[in-house]
Amino acid sequence: FLRQFSEARGVTRVEGKIGQVHQHPETGFIEALELADGRRIEGDLFIDCTGFRGLLIEQTLQAGYEDWSHWLPTNRALAVQTKA
Ligand SMILES: Cc1cc2nc3c(=O)[nH]c(=O)nc-3n(C[C@H](O)[C@H](O)[C@H](O)COP(=O)(O)OP(=O)(O)OC[C@H]3O[C@@H](n4cnc5c(N)ncnc54)[C@H](O)[C@@H]3O)c2cc1C
Repeated sequence: FLRQFSEARGVTRVEGKIGQVHQHPETGFIEALELADGRRIEGDLFIDCTGFRGLLIEQTLQAGYEDWSHWLPTNRALAVQTKA
């Protein structure tokens, strides 16, 4: 949905594996991503969608994890079949 929505409004989609993350030497802000094939993607805003890996937010920025389990008592998932 987002791809269709964005591309219709002029967004260019680039597919690739992130190899390296380049940070500003003083601020530590992410300046660019370097893909495995050597392409460099610069940007002002990066949204980390790498799931549990947290390539940008955790591995690079080490933002840390705030435990909210005391607010969220549900900590199990049950997968069951039902009639369609
Ligand atoms: C075993 C298991 C069962 C689950 N079952 C359910 C379920 O039944 N129902 C449910 O709602 N949720 C389920 N979940 C949880 C659900 O899968 C996740 O919450 C959801 O997939 C998270 O989506 P996401 O887009 O944040 O990350 P992901 O789906 O993990 O997507 C991360 C993406 O980042 C990409 N990526 C990683 N590193 C790089 C890189 N260096 N360069 C470029 N791309 C990169 C990966 O290729 C991947 O496409 C399950 C999870 C697991 C592990």
